[in-house]
Order: sequence, then C-alpha cells, then structure tokens
Amino acid sequence: MITIDQFSFTNKKALIRVDFNVPLDKQTFAITDDSRMTATLPTIKKILADGGSCILMSHLGRPKEGPEEKYSLKHLVSHLEELTKVKVYFASDCIGSEASELAANLKPNEILLLENLRFYKEEEKGDLEFAKKLSTLGDIYVNDAFGTAHRAHASTAIIAQFFPGNKCFGYVMANEVANADKVMKNTARPFTAITGGAKVSDKLLIIENLLNVADNILIGGGMAYTFMKAMGGNIGNSLCENDRLDLCLQLIQKAKNKGVNLMLPIDSIIADKFDNEAQLQTTESNNIPDGWMGLDIGPKASEAYSKCILESKTILWNGPMGVFEMSSFEKGTKAVAEALAIATEKGAFTLIGGGDSAAAINKFGYEHKVSYVSTGGGALLEYFEGKTLPGIAAILN
Ligand code: AMP
Repeated sequence: MITIDQFSFTNKKALIRVDFNVPLDKQTFAITDDSRMTATLPTIKKILADGGSCILMSHLGRPKEGPEEKYSLKHLVSHLEELTKVKVYFASDCIGSEASELAANLKPNEILLLENLRFYKEEEKGDLEFAKKLSTLGDIYVNDAFGTAHRAHASTAIIAQFFPGNKCFGYVMANEVANADKVMKNTARPFTAITGGAKVSDKLLIIENLLNVADNILIGGGMAYTFMKAMGGNIGNSLCENDRLDLCLQLIQKAKNKGVNLMLPIDSIIADKFDNEAQLQTTESNNIPDGWMGLDIGPKASEAYSKCILESKTILWNGPMGVFEMSSFEKGTKAVAEALAIATEKGAFTLIGGGDSAAAINKFGYEHKVSYVSTGGGALLEYFEGKTLPGIAAILN
C-alpha cells in the first residue's frame, strides 16, 4: 500500500481529501464530535513536519442546491487551528481564483481549507472537469477519507488520474484498510460479527458476505424484527421491512447450510410508544403484543450475546442493539460494548465500524478499550461486502 511515508513533502503542496463531515450544533455551528478531524492529524502533521503544506478538501452534510451556511466548512477553521497549532487559511469556494491564489501563496507549515466540495453537484457526479480544476491546487494527491472511499466522486477517485506517480493514502486510509483486513484475512477464530441498527435492507449484503467468514452472527436492533416476522413471530409495531422477509429466511437457511451460528435476540424490551418515558415490558422477541414495539434486546439476549463475544477471538460490531440514544433502551447496546471491552482485554481483536456503533461506544466510554474504531460506515460495510472501493482503486491503479 502506497502511503505518505513513501513521499517527502518538502516544499510540496499536498492536496488531501479528508473526511471532515463532522456533526455541528444546529444553532451555534459548534463542532459536537471532532473525532474525524483528530483522526486526520497524524497525516497533516507528517506533511507539515516534512516542510510541506496541506490543502484540505472535504464534504460536510448533504447540501441540496449550492452553498448553505449550515454546511460551510468555515465553521471548522478555528478548531483546526487549535488542533494543529498552525495558521489555517480558508477559501470560500473550493475552485476558482480565490482558491488558486491562496493555494499558490501557501507556504510550508501552513494549511488551506477549501469550502465544501458538495456545494458543486459536479463533486458527487464525479465530473472530470471539476476534478481537474481541483487537481491544479496541489502537487501530490493524498486520499485520507475512508468514509467516502466507496464513492467514485470527483475528489475521492476521479481526481487521482491527474497525479500519476504522485498519489498516495494518508494514515487514516492505511489504518482503516489494515484493520479491516485483520478481520477479513487471516482471521483469528472464533470470529463473531454483530450487526444491528434500524434498516435490515442496508445490512443484508454484508450479512451474506459475513456468512462466508464468520463463525457467529449476532443480530440486534430494529432489523431483528424483520427476521422475527419472517419466521412467523408476532412483532407488534416493531420496525419491519416486509419486502425483505424472504431474503431474511434465505439468510437463515444459508447460515444453517454453512454451519454459521446466526443468533437473533430471544427477548426484547418493548415499549408502548417511541419515547424514553414510554411504558416498558420485557417479552420474547417473537411474541410482541399489538400496539407495542421492540426497542432494545432483552436481558436474556444481552447475556447470550455477551457470552458469545467473550468466547471469540475476532469481533466486528456494526449497528446498535436498540435505540441506545434513549436511556430506557440503551442496556443491550451497553452490554455489547462492555463485553467487547472485556474481550479486547483478554486478547481478542475488536473492530467497531459505522457511525452509530462508534457513537454508542463513545457514549458508554469504551472507545479506548476496543482494538479499533473505524471512521467509515458505508465504506467499511462495502469493504466487508467484498467490493473494491473506488477511492482505494484510484490510488492503486
Ligand atoms: P442504522 O443507521 O440502520 O445503523 O440504524 C441506527 C439507528 O437504529 C439508531 O439511531 C438506533 O436508534 C436505531 N434503532 C436501533 N434499534 C432500533 C429499534 N429496535 N427500533 C427502532 N430503531 C432502532
């Protein structure tokens, strides 16, 4: 893998695609979680230490039609200065004369942050001309945005062709791939994959691919109820994707054929409304009364999942076990996070992937007690689905 370590950046301008898609407070635009920014610091510091300068480009949120105040990267400038302790210039347009001038005048040990790439539709379209304009800003292209590596956007993939021999991965990318490979290649066994979250449709492909490698697959969260219904259970008002019932049954059968232990939550915490103050009960997950919904895995499921985790040597976790954002429905997710921390202490390799699982592990304070917390959600899932990610391919080819 070709990384920034194979380059000297002395007097060079590194054009770095970072993933600064950080959550901002709706009123004040203050950054509420800067982990994506801090993740990139080692890459930025290495380039500056070489005597180079950094031109950082990123997307933020999902702007619809051109510039929007709430998605402006200018809100990140002062925090980036605090983190890096160097002067950060800001270009209020990612292409055009202002960006070109600021880039041309950038001195070693300085940083230029470009405005949100997605203020141009061309970014997500993977437009060649737009990518070419961006490419004129720097000497060496560095891709350090694992979170968008599964997209063939202008700044994540298309741009790489303008830097023959001068393109490489930053440390975030290199780390992400190395850690994902620890799970998928030369896996220490037993290998347990835990998957949860709201949408089963998002996770079916990954479960299918994991059936080829995992010994145990533990399913939790809202997606478990589509499986429960497919097997003939009563799920009340729980989340369900009726057009995926057959696929769930097929996966259960495939797991049996391959000898994979696919576990569903035996019990659930159910509520009479989607509310932290709702009335609660614990029931079997396939016997939820009408008018009630499963919002967390129950105590028996938590215990069974924790036991399985503690017996494993490699564990991948993507997706919460319940609506962990509300204290009434956090127990299952917390139990899994705790079991992961203990398993890690006992020598297992634990990889947490996807925005929500990362948020959950942070909420419960276990982020430093697991082996690796990935910055990528969709990208990590697609990597595990066995796909070649365009952002990775563009550097390698
Ligand atoms: P996803 O983006 O599909 O990974 O889903 C993450 C979201 O799923 C989180 O915000 C959780 O609150 C939500 N979630 C987890 N379990 C449930 C459930 N049983 N019912 C409804 N939402 C859930």
